[in-house]
Amino acid sequence: MSGSSRLTEEEVERYARQLVLPQWSEAAQLALGAARVLVVGLGALGSPVALYLAAAGVGRIGLLDDDRVERSNLARQLLHGPADVGRPKVESAVASLRALHPHVVLEPHELRIAEENAVALVAGHDLVLDCSDSFATRYLLNDACCQTGVPLVEAGVLGFDGLVLSIQPGSSACYRCAFPLAPPPAVARSCAEGGVLGALAGVIGSLQALEAIKLLTGVGRPATDALLQVDGLDLTVTRVHLQRRADCPACGPAHPRSSTL
Ligand SMILES: [Zn+2]
Repeated sequence: MSGSSRLTEEEVERYARQLVLPQWSEAAQLALGAARVLVVGLGALGSPVALYLAAAGVGRIGLLDDDRVERSNLARQLLHGPADVGRPKVESAVASLRALHPHVVLEPHELRIAEENAVALVAGHDLVLDCSDSFATRYLLNDACCQTGVPLVEAGVLGFDGLVLSIQPGSSACYRCAFPLAPPPAVARSCAEGGVLGALAGVIGSLQALEAIKLLTGVGRPATDALLQVDGLDLTVTRVHLQRRADCPACGPAHPRSSTL
């Protein structure tokens, strides 16, 4: 499907409800089909992200995770079912996405992103989605995307709170501009410790997929230079304006990339 200049009859039918949108076009659909994205983390956020991106017609999707499916994942990680417990998440994700859309090219990476492989993994993609549950991964991906110029849609969920941040390296505030310092490990709780509700992860992951689709097609205005905070308990959404920092070690023009957290 990628690289062609016209949609096939099957694609016109499959994508009919988005093609009919006045803001959408065959060119937007073809741009999605030609896109290569990387989803880092195939859990609570990665599940809706990968499902919606595949369904919408993103041509190539890299799937990165080194975990295996656990029973405690099933309440929110909809890429995986009870029969997948014990199976690598990349394998069950490929099976679910293949069933949803047989033509999407899926590129599984059963590994953990680290300082030594982050730039090589990110390079060559049109966009990266951070669906991890780790502050270290957030900073690694942010710095790798700033270094390679690959747009990044960052998101996180914990408890009933979620956030989304779209980053266009070199032109909008990056994650380090918003959060220059990583929280100390004692403060940074994981979902395992703090808990999370699947429906909230679904909302945040869907927003992340929406932002990715906008960045890939040029449709609408992505929420760059903004931090979207969602409070799921009273359903309030707060949009905080962000500015690039001249002294940002990741994206600031005067400073080389720093590898320290
Ligand atoms: Zn920055």
